[in-house]
Amino acid sequence: MKITFKCTECVGNGLSNVDFQDVEINSEGIYVITCDEGHKTLKFTSEPLFDVLFDFAAYSLLDGYRREAVVNFVASLERFYEYCIQIMSFEAGIEFNEFNTTWKLVKRSERQIGAFYMLYLNTFKEAPGSLENVKVGKFNAVNFRNEVVHNGFIPSMEDTLRYGELVYKHILDLYYKITNKCYEGRMLELTKKQKEYYALNKVNDINIIEVSSQISFLNLNRYKDYKHPSFEERLEEFERIRCIK
Ligand SMILES: [Zn+2]
Repeated sequence: MKITFKCTECVGNGLSNVDFQDVEINSEGIYVITCDEGHKTLKFTSEPLFDVLFDFAAYSLLDGYRREAVVNFVASLERFYEYCIQIMSFEAGIEFNEFNTTWKLVKRSERQIGAFYMLYLNTFKEAPGSLENVKVGKFNAVNFRNEVVHNGFIPSMEDTLRYGELVYKHILDLYYKITNKCYEGRMLELTKKQKEYYALNKVNDINIIEVSSQISFLNLNRYKDYKHPSFEERLEEFERIRCIK
């Protein structure tokens, strides 16, 4: 998968022949691009990793790769929990360094989901919704995940769609609930990425530093009053967007 950027400086200078660049997507969401005029721009994409991984899952699904779709849905969900843990922690005033040190202690996914449940409980004073006992074909969602990821199970298209839909609804429900309450934490999560990049890299030879956003399946940067379509409707829309691109 690639991501398309245009040079902001060329656009600002009114150049008619604006240079678009396709670059390979990475996990960090940080890109340094140089256009044909030599303008160097540092782009931070606002989509969190879970959002990008959900796109990988959707593309796999549209291409008929059921196992790959499930593996990417799982990765998206796990990174979503990480994202939520970060913003709830930052909202509560946790420092980045303290967070990083603690995060290294909860490397395994079972620990991370446990951390998510308890932080959610602490933030909202109520039990979080969970996919653990929801049925997907002959399994519950957790066993379905484990069979596909660890045992080479090949899911049917029906079960793959069912799992994708469950993850889609689960992420959207939690995302808006948590980001509405933890607005500051959400901003700090984006800042963390930038601060860590600046600490490791020289940025004085870069003309423009900016945050940009792309079209994604989850469409989290939606305009006001946007009503999220069903998973099936969004798949159809996404197929059309892909054809245009
Ligand atoms: Zn340029």
